[in-house]
Amino acid sequence: MSTRREFVRGVAAVGGLAAVSGIHVPLAVGATAPGAGANGPFTLPPLPYAYDALEPYMDAETVKLHHDKHQQAYVNGLNAAVAALANARASGDYALIKHWEREAAFNGSGAFLHEMFWTNMAGAKAGGGGEPTGELMDRIRKDFGSYEAFTKQFSAATIAVEASGWGILAWQPQGRQLVILQAEKHQNLTQWGVTPLLVCDVWEHAYYLKYQNRRADFVKAWWNLVNWKDVAERFDRIAG
Ligand code: FE
Repeated sequence: MSTRREFVRGVAAVGGLAAVSGIHVPLAVGATAPGAGANGPFTLPPLPYAYDALEPYMDAETVKLHHDKHQQAYVNGLNAAVAALANARASGDYALIKHWEREAAFNGSGAFLHEMFWTNMAGAKAGGGGEPTGELMDRIRKDFGSYEAFTKQFSAATIAVEASGWGILAWQPQGRQLVILQAEKHQNLTQWGVTPLLVCDVWEHAYYLKYQNRRADFVKAWWNLVNWKDVAERFDRIAG
């Protein structure tokens, strides 16, 4: 199981928005688990800390429901899609191909983004909050003008996501630069080829119990949880 878990982690880290945007499962097998051969089943990675580790900014009940129920549902949905696509290949019946590819994109993107979401955060005792340092900070200043300009754009983009989705800081290799994107649902509004580094979930399930409809208050509080060490490690792997 741990191999599969690392596989899923590898998809999130290496597959990038190829994973977020669509046909990620074959890419993931080839890119991160050569010889694995099988497309699933995927498993839910454990939360990297206690349910209450993100208090007071993110309450324990929200974290528990979010991880144990919502993220699990995306993992289950991905496995269902992967199995259905395998059956379609075996039978040659592609009548429902559009449905299952959409299910794979939605649930796979949901599963992988949530893995990144949790590791992108840490409680205060574990180093959450503050500001990035080193090469990541240098790059943020270069690409956005200043750290303050970056956080303002990221917050504005994240708060303004239509309906349910994500704010995403990503590395764009074509321009060798950081970019801020919105994702509607989990997989819409992306640029192919970029790699997410920092993601903020603004589906209502991420904040409604504590913040009700005040999404902006949630995003403001979320900055206190950003695990810049994790973001910098992702940046160093992809852009270093
Ligand atoms: Fe979520």
